[in-house]
Amino acid sequence: MWTTYPAVATIIEPRFLASLSREQIIDGLGEIIKLGLVKDRSILTLLKKVHVDTLVASTQLLPLLKKAIAAKAFYVKADPSEVGLRKILNAGHTIGHALELKYKIPHGRAVLIGLRKELSVCEELGLTPPAVRAQYEALLHSLGIHLEDNLAIDWQSVLHDKKVAGDHIVLPVIKKPGEAKLVSIKLASLKHHLVTS
Ligand SMILES: [Zn+2]
Repeated sequence: MWTTYPAVATIIEPRFLASLSREQIIDGLGEIIKLGLVKDRSILTLLKKVHVDTLVASTQLLPLLKKAIAAKAFYVKADPSEVGLRKILNAGHTIGHALELKYKIPHGRAVLIGLRKELSVCEELGLTPPAVRAQYEALLHSLGIHLEDNLAIDWQSVLHDKKVAGDHIVLPVIKKPGEAKLVSIKLASLKHHLVTS
């Protein structure tokens, strides 16, 4: 039997952050950008003011981390055993995990590519307004993050995702920056858009 306890504290050590490579910073930004998209659009506003190469030395770093930790803590407190609401945090992860496994790319970068693909599919399904993906691309550009965009997705990996139930998959869908909800999507529909998009 597993017994888990909530974290007592989250400690931020700026000296550690200064030791990270550019790629490791992008990796961490994957989850932070995701939190901005699903929960707190002010994270995205802060990110617009920084660049990957100057982020760690920026005065925006601490407020950014505090907002990201608060957004994550909201879901952890609301749904400690991940039975419902916390699944929102899986945004970008269904496709991200499939790419991470196949191409051995770092988790956060895979999530960023997964978010791009999921935004595109949800846009085609009429679930997410096109402006969200446009804003996402503009943010990546201003941050100085370039993502691979020609990676084929292994459909079998998507099927192994824990969010698959029968012939549907429950995906976090971004309704607008800072707001997401869980939507059950037909697997056949997802496959159609992933193969053609
Ligand atoms: Zn993750």
